[in-house]
Amino acid sequence: MTYLKKISRVLEEMHSGSTHSFFSSDCSMYMFGPHTISAGQVFFKTKYSLGLVNLKPILPGHVLVISRRNVPRFLDLSPEEVSDMFQSAQRIGHIIEKEYGGSSLTIACQDGPHAGQTVPHCHVHVIPRRLGDYVNNDDIYTDITNNTAELLTKDVPTATAATVVLHKGVDNEDRRPRTEEEMAQEATRLELLMGQAQ
Ligand code: AMP
Repeated sequence: MTYLKKISRVLEEMHSGSTHSFFSSDCSMYMFGPHTISAGQVFFKTKYSLGLVNLKPILPGHVLVISRRNVPRFLDLSPEEVSDMFQSAQRIGHIIEKEYGGSSLTIACQDGPHAGQTVPHCHVHVIPRRLGDYVNNDDIYTDITNNTAELLTKDVPTATAATVVLHKGVDNEDRRPRTEEEMAQEATRLELLMGQAQ
């Protein structure tokens, strides 16, 4: 990245008004909770939110809208951030539903570890849906639910915990993490489509 490009990125991020550190000193990375996200995964930016492609999508086009501030809970967001996050989810939803041949959307937020959140940084899942993509439509919520059964077994009755163990979970081992290149290709395509839609 050239020096001028770096400076303009820093100014852009400063203008966003964030009070938390969410980008690295060389501006080529963002933070998603404890995870480092390369700039190549980010396809959409507003003052308060970022759209990023998923490391392990549960269906094609499964993306995330995250708050720019690295805060764990939806409850931590200001009214402006909430509004921006859902307006971003709507704008992104228009694009990904069309791009991935969907006819509906699943929009979900797991707000806190006992709701299934695995990454402690406020985010909304936006997933294009089509007829028959799941044999049992609502099974998608099983896949969105986290698979950290050990965490849940501490707080739930045994029967419920056993059910949780059977769930595959978002970060289950069956799905391989995508490469940076795969994610960057998708992000570039989506960024272009988002730009054309404005
Ligand atoms: P949740 O279980 O609701 O907290 O969802 C976490 C989401 O973050 C899942 O869809 C994961 O696949 C996704 N995820 C985890 N790590 C990364 C990462 N490094 N880059 C992009 N997405 C990620």
